[in-house]
Amino acid sequence: MTDLPQYPWLNPSRKKLLSVDHTHHCLLISGAAGLGKSMLALELAERLLCEAPEGEDSCGLCSSCHLVSNSVHPQLHVLIPESLIEESHPVARVHAQRYLEPGRSTQKRKLSEQISVDSARLLSETLLTTVAANARKVVLIIGADAMNRNAANAMLKVLEEPTDRTQFILVSSYPYRLPATIHSRCIRLDSPAPSQEETARWLQSQYDINSENLAVLFRSGLGPLELSQIIENERTDAIGELIRCCKTLDGKLVDPLTLATLCTQIGIGRALAILQSAALVAIREAVRADSGLNAGAGGLFWRPKLALEAFQRLGAARERFNGPVDEQLGLEDICAWLCSEAETGLTRTTG
Ligand SMILES: [Zn+2]
Repeated sequence: MTDLPQYPWLNPSRKKLLSVDHTHHCLLISGAAGLGKSMLALELAERLLCEAPEGEDSCGLCSSCHLVSNSVHPQLHVLIPESLIEESHPVARVHAQRYLEPGRSTQKRKLSEQISVDSARLLSETLLTTVAANARKVVLIIGADAMNRNAANAMLKVLEEPTDRTQFILVSSYPYRLPATIHSRCIRLDSPAPSQEETARWLQSQYDINSENLAVLFRSGLGPLELSQIIENERTDAIGELIRCCKTLDGKLVDPLTLATLCTQIGIGRALAILQSAALVAIREAVRADSGLNAGAGGLFWRPKLALEAFQRLGAARERFNGPVDEQLGLEDICAWLCSEAETGLTRTTG
């Protein structure tokens, strides 16, 4: 069996996925980002291809298991957007090379956040024309929501008329971005996120991190694997700083340059996700306060109107960044807007 990391919070989903024989040809594994869903998908792929699976596990000994663990299984077909390649498991990464932006050099350009129509076409043609017609095939699409409309259309033909022995496994943290035509052909399994206590136990079993820093990290709204990367890259302080910015945005001036620099340090995509999650917390707080419930003491204190508009703008920016836009410019734009709104709010309050 390929050496895959085991995450305790995935155990219930793992049981559901691996202990039954799937009769539906297309599974969609969804759940928050940073849970390690793709490991689950890879484990299932290996078990489906194994010639002598034992219960939930693949045997690790047959020729098929060897081909998977050596990343050369001809019937394991993997699509991953370029931007997720680096963080993918080596087995998925190497298998994905076959379909990665065929004919395009990745030098001197931003890595694509999308699964291109060329990749999807190449995959569907391969599936339809493969010589080993009777062979068991597994198609793994990691970051399936990164398929643009054309790519999704190119996949539809093989999804609509699957051969008996082809199993599709789609993995997505943003399943609402998938076209309805794809959704309707999948059985969906939602992988729940671990509780803060479980995440804390897991992080503390690997890192020397105190509960104060953990509390800061939990305010980011990120998943356990993302938090583990942040600790690994020693970015805990930067996250703390960004969270403090979220709090002070409504009470004290933050200058756009400081905010943008901080976001770049953390990674633009991740920083925008944190800011958006902070806005969401503020909206929830406002709703609770409105309905006479106690507003949680740990909430962030953006004005509800700013929080709502920020949530929408940050969401739109994150969507846009999936395309070929200049992230730095987009980031400076949104930071300038946030800070000027904060300033306007402040002048109004004090003036
Ligand atoms: Zn095997």
